[in-house]
Formats: sequence, C-alpha cells, structure tokens
Amino acid sequence: IFEGYRVQYNDARGPYKGGIRYHQDTDINEVKALAFWMALKCAVANIPMGGGKGGITVDPKKLSKGELERLSRGWIKLMAPVIGPQVDVPAPDVNTTPEIMSWMVDEYGKITGDKTNAVITGKPIEVGGSEGRGPATGLGGFYVFDLLRKKMAMPDSCRVVIQGFGNVGGNAADILSKHGHTIIALSDSKGAILKEDGIDIKLLNDYKKEFGQISGFPGSKMITNEELLLLECDVLVPAALENQITAENAPLVKARLVLELANGPTTPEADDILHSMGIPVVPDILANAGGVTVSTFEWEQNLKGEHWSEEEVNAKLKKIMEEETNLIYDRSVALNTDIRRAAFIVALERIEQATK
Ligand code: GLU
Repeated sequence: IFEGYRVQYNDARGPYKGGIRYHQDTDINEVKALAFWMALKCAVANIPMGGGKGGITVDPKKLSKGELERLSRGWIKLMAPVIGPQVDVPAPDVNTTPEIMSWMVDEYGKITGDKTNAVITGKPIEVGGSEGRGPATGLGGFYVFDLLRKKMAMPDSCRVVIQGFGNVGGNAADILSKHGHTIIALSDSKGAILKEDGIDIKLLNDYKKEFGQISGFPGSKMITNEELLLLECDVLVPAALENQITAENAPLVKARLVLELANGPTTPEADDILHSMGIPVVPDILANAGGVTVSTFEWEQNLKGEHWSEEEVNAKLKKIMEEETNLIYDRSVALNTDIRRAAFIVALERIEQATK
C-alpha cells in the first residue's frame, strides 16, 4: 500500500494543472508547495490554467513494470472523481513518463467514458499527446535563456553545468549544445561527471542507455554533486530536485547566471545570497514553464480534435516564452528588483485580477 496525493491549490485562471511525482521523499508538504508553484507558473506563462500537483511516495525504480502500471491505474481510480478535462489536468513530473500517462488516461476513460483524452497531458502521440511535449521544458528554458543572455551581454558560447539528466536536464543539455554552448559537467541520481573540453551529449545518451548511468563516461572525471554545483561556469542549470542551492553552498557558487529548470532548486536564503553576489537567478516559474505551456497546447488540441505540427507547437511556445520573459525582465528593471520577485508580482497580479 502506497500513499498518494493530489493538491488543488488555485483554479481562478482555469482547471488545476500540474504533474504527478513518484519519489521516495515525496510527501504532502512537498506536493502542496509544488501545487502553489504551478499556480504561479501558469499565471507567468499566461495560460488558462490554475495550479495543482500530485505525487506518490514510492521509489519507482524498485517496482516491476506490472506493479508500476497497477499503482498508476490505482492513483486514477481514487482520483477520478476529483479530476477531469475542465476540473484538474495532471501530467508528468519527476520519474513519471508518457507511458505512465497512457495508463492513466486509459483508466480514466474506462471509469468515466471520456473520449477526449484531455484529462491527462504528456501522453504518447498515439493517444493524443502533443508534438514537442517531450523536449518542451528544456526548449522553453532555452528560449528564456537565449533572450536573457543577449540582454545581459553574455557570450554566444557559454560554459554550462547541468544538475540532472532526466527529461528536463537531458533535453536542455542537447538543445544548449546544439546551439553552440559547451556542457562541461552533468549529473544524474547516481553521480556527476566533469569534462572541461565539453561533453558530447549524443554519446552520453548512448552511454546512459547502455550502462544505466553517466558515471564512467569515457574521458570524464567523476566529481560529487556538491562539487558540480560549485564549478566555475557561465550558466548553472539545476534540473533535478528542490533545495539544492542553500545558505551553506550559495556563497561558493561561481556561475555568472543560474537557470532554474527544476522546481524550487534555490532556497529563499540562497536566493538572497546569490542576489547580493550579483548572480542573476532565472526563476523556475519562468524558466521551466515551457513544459506546462505545451501541456496546455496538448489539452487544447484534444478538446478541439486537432493535431498540430512540431513547428507550430514550437513557434507558439517561443512566442509565449519570449513575450513573458521580456515583460518580466522589464518589470524587474523598472522596479529595481530581481527576476523572481518580478515574476511573482506579474503572476499574483494575474491571479488577483481573475479572482476579482
Ligand atoms: N511537471 C511539470 C512542471 O512542473 C509539467 C506540468 C504539466 O505539464 O502540467 O511544470
């Protein structure tokens, strides 16, 4: 028997929206905080969604595939009465995949008769998934970064350190390296590697497929997760879990910019320290909003019975990410505050207006 959750934080702007996380450390307080973040994130992206989040306290790597499927269907059996295309629309998060989403949408359809498949996003293409949803969080983060890089006069080719090699970190690494940036260090849940002259992401993907880890990648040096966060680089990209940059290690960070692709990787104390050190932090609710934005495109396509091309999806994503980045950056300059506070201000204003 496992414990599972769904938190519905705020639906002033639309149905509750947010992923479902499978992790051994997930608990109700974490899911509550993540649901709150989703409400702000959807408002920052200006998509017609509220904020929710789900989770199960489980290490999915210890389950057989059959167990994983039964657990995922079990979550839907219990949550079916409180979710729905116009009520609450879950999606993937840490350790949950398109395949898990396909079991979930199938189970929901069996229980309710719903044929739109719009209750769950992040599905495989065959069952109504959207083109471009897989890389969307990484790609959205790249659009945000690329715009800010120019505004902040950073180099065309940056040295990048990425914590995390899952859906978000892996795609970000691929996209950044294809745009001429050098990924010098990376980590997954088992260890971290450093290669000063740059990691070939395609080869690393092949290596991970074969060996189930990135440690031992030819030509790289093994380092600790703590060392990875403190490497000298242009861009530090936390793309794993929350509370990684803390009051203890923040004073030792040697990056020029922090791009938060994880949710909540920087504690509030660390955030203030980085700000006082003059290191800008691009906040999660802006930097990683690309995932939920393409999720919302998926929901819209399902409700309209449409299927958009990847070019169309990416063009719409780019427009939203650039518009909101410009707006929030200008707001931070006008108010003489950091980008996170400016993003909070914009999000809260939008939620307030919808509530009124
Ligand atoms: N789990 C992702 C996030 O934290 C995506 C949520 C979604 O697509 O609804 O933003």
